[in-house]
Amino acid sequence: MMKKVAVIGAGISGLTVAQLLKDRYQVVVYEKDTQPGGLIKCKRVEGNLFHTCGGHVFNSKYTHVLDWFWDQFDQKRDFVKADRNSSVILPDNQHVPYPIENHVYMLADDIVKGVVNDIVAMTKQEDNEISNFEEFLVRRFGKALYDIYFEPYNKKIWRRSLCDVPISWLEGKLPMPTVEEIIYNNFKQVKEKKFVHSSFWYEKENGSQFIADSLAEGLDVRYSADIDELTYENGKWQVGYDGEEYGIVVFCGNIKSLPHTIKGVSLGRFCSQIEGLESHGTTSVFCKIDKNPYSWLYLPSEEYEAHRIICTGNFSPTNNANENVMTGTVEFTDAISDADIKKNLAKMPLHPQYVCHQYNPYTYPIQDAHTREMISDLKRELLSHNFFFTGRFADWEYYNMDVAMDAAMKTCSNII
Ligand SMILES: Cc1cc2nc3c(=O)[nH]c(=O)nc-3n(C[C@H](O)[C@H](O)[C@H](O)COP(=O)(O)OP(=O)(O)OC[C@H]3O[C@@H](n4cnc5c(N)ncnc54)[C@H](O)[C@@H]3O)c2cc1C
Repeated sequence: MMKKVAVIGAGISGLTVAQLLKDRYQVVVYEKDTQPGGLIKCKRVEGNLFHTCGGHVFNSKYTHVLDWFWDQFDQKRDFVKADRNSSVILPDNQHVPYPIENHVYMLADDIVKGVVNDIVAMTKQEDNEISNFEEFLVRRFGKALYDIYFEPYNKKIWRRSLCDVPISWLEGKLPMPTVEEIIYNNFKQVKEKKFVHSSFWYEKENGSQFIADSLAEGLDVRYSADIDELTYENGKWQVGYDGEEYGIVVFCGNIKSLPHTIKGVSLGRFCSQIEGLESHGTTSVFCKIDKNPYSWLYLPSEEYEAHRIICTGNFSPTNNANENVMTGTVEFTDAISDADIKKNLAKMPLHPQYVCHQYNPYTYPIQDAHTREMISDLKRELLSHNFFFTGRFADWEYYNMDVAMDAAMKTCSNII
């Protein structure tokens, strides 16, 4: 008889794990919601597609992830490929293409002079170790660009001084242009192609919900199953929800729930460390917006609290109810009142007209210098009980979908 595996959570991580294990194990996925997807969920509102958290697009720099992904999907039939067309909106409604450091030549004279001075200074600076996000941004892009864009934009997302953001937290997520590249890209007016999402795939129908629905197909997913008890006894795990027993558990939910969910294994010192983990939520506001050529607009302006508009209506024509409508999602960090949403929308570019909104309490994990070590120690400890965990809020990592898939693959390679 095949060994049984319980996967908790039908987000992209849990679905990837279940797909990878299903031929060798009897896999059951427990999902507390009524549909799969977690953060990549979408729903139709007035015939338009609402990404209830963000506006998910797909690409990866990992060839093994791309290979696996395209084994699951028909690229030509189900996806379109698009080049990212994003701009930063500066005061006086100046649209500067993203990334801003490649388009310094478009900025006001005094800012260009500041950037030139910064670049000259950067060529002389010593290569000391960088410890926080502010230092990284100033050293990499200079104070002039930091002041007009990097600081105000990132402060809106992280809601704290960028000195308090350890650099390890954003490892692998940050653009790393050299001074030579910045100068060259400006002289030659080069469009950036190095970012993971400088070009991306997008689903022809139903946005990222299509990915979740397709991966869930053929799996044994039990919906509306909020797992709040996992009991270890005699070498087996019992799922409190239905009393079924499993040899292996792969947890892809939120690590914060583990201390009160796991019974029969003491999490000891980890409990207080897990309790101390910080994060942000996101309010995604679905709007009708002006027709425009953009994928994303980045909004450093302090006039309003939203930090970006994702023009999801441009990703696939089926995302808009008809050709007269253009839709997008306006993103705010954390919860925001209905009245404040409307006050903010009134001041924003593209004249967003409110349709509906959703607050997602867990979207951006915040690491400190010890988080990764704590997570690795806990993984090691639970491994001996055949309990594994992976995912954005299980690992407390700032994963994109593809990196979540990669992490799920690594987890499965420890199981098989
Ligand atoms: C605003 C925003 C925009 C983003 N844009 C992109 C993008 O464009 N491209 C990209 O690649 N990535 C993007 N990401 C990242 C991407 O959303 C995540 O990497 C990915 O969705 C994480 O999936 P996950 O399965 O690890 O977690 P989740 O999606 O959080 O899934 C966890 C699942 O577990 C379920 N669950 C939790 N606890 C329990 C329980 N006790 N019992 C049962 N079920 C439970 C939840 O209901 C949920 O379905 C974005 C993220 C955000 C926040």
